[in-house]
Amino acid sequence: MPRVRVAVAMLLIPLVVLLAFASSRPHLAAQKPRSLSAGAYASDITPRKFPVSVNGHMTDRQVSEVHDPLRARCLVLDDGKTTVAFVIVDSCMIPRDLCDRAKELIQKKTGIPARNVLIAATHTHSAVTLTGAFQSEPVEWYREFVVEQIVHGVERAWQQREPAQVAWGVGEDATQVFNRRWFMKPGTIQPNPFGQVDQVRMNPGYQHPGLIKPAGPTDPQIGFLSVQARDGRPIAFLANYALHYVGGVPGLSADYFGAFAERIQQLLGAEKVHPPFVGIMSNGASGDINNINYAGPAPGKRAPYEQCRLVADSVARKVFAAYQQVAQHHRADVSLAVAEQEIELGVRLPSEADLARAQQILAQARGPVLTTLPEIYARETVLLARYPPTVRLKLQAIRVGSMGIGAIPCEVFCEIGLEIKAKSPLKPTCIIELANGYNGYLPTPQQHEWGGYETWRARSSYLEVRASDKITATLLELLREVSQERPSSEQ
Ligand SMILES: [Zn+2]
Repeated sequence: MPRVRVAVAMLLIPLVVLLAFASSRPHLAAQKPRSLSAGAYASDITPRKFPVSVNGHMTDRQVSEVHDPLRARCLVLDDGKTTVAFVIVDSCMIPRDLCDRAKELIQKKTGIPARNVLIAATHTHSAVTLTGAFQSEPVEWYREFVVEQIVHGVERAWQQREPAQVAWGVGEDATQVFNRRWFMKPGTIQPNPFGQVDQVRMNPGYQHPGLIKPAGPTDPQIGFLSVQARDGRPIAFLANYALHYVGGVPGLSADYFGAFAERIQQLLGAEKVHPPFVGIMSNGASGDINNINYAGPAPGKRAPYEQCRLVADSVARKVFAAYQQVAQHHRADVSLAVAEQEIELGVRLPSEADLARAQQILAQARGPVLTTLPEIYARETVLLARYPPTVRLKLQAIRVGSMGIGAIPCEVFCEIGLEIKAKSPLKPTCIIELANGYNGYLPTPQQHEWGGYETWRARSSYLEVRASDKITATLLELLREVSQERPSSEQ
């Protein structure tokens, strides 16, 4: 053999071997049995010093009573290759720096990569302030405490992990969700805090004579992931429903999210298991959805927490019925995948004229507590004028088997969630909002045009008008990315 041919052959052999190996890799991946393990732990974040600031309203509330405990509910899943942690926290919203610090410590203590951790707020409006919102400000000791308890919770869940199996699916409860934004007859909407008249009004009042129709859809789906030990003992149940919160609770409370965790535990017969079962309700794309039917008459007065219990019972029973359909199909050969990306979005900064108007309103306001909407939004304008022209926010997609989870750090309008669910290659897909940071409301460009509370420029609504288009496109890319890594056995 001439020397040159030998050389070519020697070059070709490794190439052929390499190609053969490469082409067999997906096949090998599909055949290699995955073995899932899981652990869960509910970490207590009820404060131990009082009073505490509670946000979620235009004015601050100082609260000294605890109605029911606040928790950071942690679930760790591990397929032998990828580990994922979910942390759903009884908080109105959690800022990015707090999420990032908790993730960094989690990585240090457990080895779970920071990018594989999802931390989200339930959006209960009766929890302790963690980020500045309207006239509420956080205190450092509570922020520290929450970081510690999140890290502790994931560590415990990680230590407790055991061979596990999962099943997932979707239930439906259309009875508890209502779009809270309404088109109103001309002349029935008061000027907004900036002196303009919107076409849409939030929370218009029961059977208001000006009601035309809701300005957006609702999403009745309750996505769920059931996690069991191999003998069928329940470990955790992660549910997802697009409902802002319920309210009607005096003192600190996990709202219906906590009541759901209790109710699903009863339905699953998981009250006396060890390690303790962890029920979790995460919030879906519920930026414009609440539990109030303005088309109907005002309901009679409810006892404190009664409505939370009613909603929790209804949603838990509906999702439990869907769970029973798949209860026989829990499986351990399930793979996990995570993709994360930061995007840069513009800030709707106030103009010089906006700022001058705001300063004039504030100069005439009587403080220290501001009570009128123009005053409150004037203060927001001054605070927002100090924001940078763009912000970076984190989007994340997680896959468990063929179930997709998309995480967005905003209060996401329902129609955006519906679009992502419909276009996602993963069925089912859930949206977890207020995850991995806090960047205010996320209306669509059309909803911005119609106006209303959720679009009013403030620290609670400041992203550029086209933000939802960019977020939707990027999150769909991430969902496609985690979908492509799926072994053929899961397609
Ligand atoms: Zn909200």
